Amino acid sequence: MSTQTGTIRTDVENIFPIIKKFLYSDHDIFLRELVSNAVDATQKLSTLSLSGVAKGDIGDTKIEISIDEEAGTLTISDKGIGMTNEEVDKYINQIAFSSAQEFLDKYKDKTNIIGHFGLGFYSAFMVADKVEIHTLSYKYKQKAKSVRWSCDGSPNYEISTGEKKERGTDITLHISEDSKEFLQKSRIEELLNKYCRFLPVEIKFGENEKKETAEDGIETVEITDNIINNPNPAWIKKPADLSDEDYKNFYKELYPHTFDEPLFWIHLNVDHPFKLTGVLYFPKIKNNFEIQKNKIGLYSNQVFVTDNVEEIVPEFLQLLHGVLDSPDIPLNVSRSYLQSDPNVKRISSHITKKVASKLHDIFKEDRTNFEEKWKDISVFVKYGMLSNEKFADKGKSFLLLESVDGTHSTIEEYKEKIKDLQTDKDGKLVLLYTTSPDGQHGYISAAKDKGYDVLKMDHVLDAHFVGYLEQNIENVSLKRVDADIVDKLVEKDEAVESVLSKEQEEKLVELVKTQVAESSVMVEVKAMAPDAMPVTIVKPEFMRRMRDMSAYNGMGHMAGMPESYNLVLNGNHESIQKILDEKDSEKQTGSIKQLHDLALLAQGMLKGEDLTNFIKRSANLL
Ligand code: ADP
Repeated sequence: MSTQTGTIRTDVENIFPIIKKFLYSDHDIFLRELVSNAVDATQKLSTLSLSGVAKGDIGDTKIEISIDEEAGTLTISDKGIGMTNEEVDKYINQIAFSSAQEFLDKYKDKTNIIGHFGLGFYSAFMVADKVEIHTLSYKYKQKAKSVRWSCDGSPNYEISTGEKKERGTDITLHISEDSKEFLQKSRIEELLNKYCRFLPVEIKFGENEKKETAEDGIETVEITDNIINNPNPAWIKKPADLSDEDYKNFYKELYPHTFDEPLFWIHLNVDHPFKLTGVLYFPKIKNNFEIQKNKIGLYSNQVFVTDNVEEIVPEFLQLLHGVLDSPDIPLNVSRSYLQSDPNVKRISSHITKKVASKLHDIFKEDRTNFEEKWKDISVFVKYGMLSNEKFADKGKSFLLLESVDGTHSTIEEYKEKIKDLQTDKDGKLVLLYTTSPDGQHGYISAAKDKGYDVLKMDHVLDAHFVGYLEQNIENVSLKRVDADIVDKLVEKDEAVESVLSKEQEEKLVELVKTQVAESSVMVEVKAMAPDAMPVTIVKPEFMRRMRDMSAYNGMGHMAGMPESYNLVLNGNHESIQKILDEKDSEKQTGSIKQLHDLALLAQGMLKGEDLTNFIKRSANLL
């Protein structure tokens, strides 16, 4: 065959400039596209060999990536099926070109295609001025001749007989001036590691030298291929063939910089009605759960697509780590389209279901283990229940409520536990909780003295979760331990009789009100046990929750409002009676201030100048 020239397609505009400009930031996908083609060609050969169409031993099928700095070329070589002259014309000149053109027509204005997948062979022109193909078809024994094709980035190509003696295809890229980075070993290593880490055919990039000096002083050098990928990652194996150790090792392989071990994992393996494999790990979730996202890699037949799985996996599941592999997720569509894709919907709800049932299983089979890990799992479970109804339905069975004493109960167990003492006069269960076991210590111990249980709700998410529980568990209300309800519950046992008369109580309220001038503060007198605190601050549950929520949502204006609270005076406390009897008005004022400040102090609300004055006053009193 003499050299022939041709124009790829005469009826189209030159697409090469468009390819060059396309997705400027994602030029590096060219390597994934070309190596994927090499993998396909290799796997096709294996299939043909298995079915007896390709005769004889297919031998070594490693793919090799090499850089020739001097020539300025990058070459991807495979030992796959290769192409005949007619095949080059059909697949490269026609099919590949049309599909690249179609791809660009569809997406040239859209940058949010998932993983920018499917530009194919012509993506080489994003980084190369000229591309050459040297190929020899597996049919060479039937006299298929080697073919050389080259194209310089115009729609014109050259095709001639080549010199390739071995079966397979070499794609050589003459790297363009502005893409010289792709001639750097480290850059290519980085890309291979990103896109090709788990491709199913071994990929060689350079060699490893191992020097050894024997006892007799003779030095031997052992040279081995530097294989950059693991063609048999855990997720494609059968779960029955894997030990816990294997899963943990795979986690380390995925995240070499993480020291934490995963809490547990789920191996996904679905064949029908969609294909999905993968391993999802529950990481140790640190308090700041936002940062932990984007740790799930999405693959398609072991080819890396993206680690941004936002439209595929429900938000709360994005806290998980690991790998999802599905050829049934459409990849050359825009991201916004994905959410409405039926397969993506099915995959997403399948994962949700699997995760819920895994949690349920661990809870059922090994409750101690589950409780030990609850600290790490709870954020995930609560986040899931708040954001996903289906998950919430399942979650109710394994959600644990943690009391300040460290015990864990399911919702049903907890209702049972508190029903005798914590049912209010309307028959509603009152769940008490604290957002700060240290800060609200005084209130917690007061509640405990009454035999009440207090739940720990001290994560940022809990501000929402409290509301969720109230709305979703029948006949239950939740009150923070310093809320007004605590003394309402006290009222119920009616054992304490007031030593003050109505008039005395009114006088006391007047006295205190003039001292605490803020209009947002309500003052009331209650008959409590004589040894209970003389003055207590209680905050209306509703107002406080509004503040918590707005702080969580970053709404400054609510948080800036003066904090309203009720000041509850214990009419039966000796010091309150002393204030009433005090003749010296200066001393009286001092005592009221002192008690008020003490109550503020107990809540961590005494700050700045008020705190300084309090300390001075206390010193004087002593
Ligand atoms: P796709 O891989 O999606 O089919 P490409 O544009 O990447 O599209 O490639 C077009 C066609 O060219 C392939 O389907 C294949 O037939 C052929 N081809 C590309 N690279 C190789 C290769 N390394 N070995 C054999 N055939 C190849």
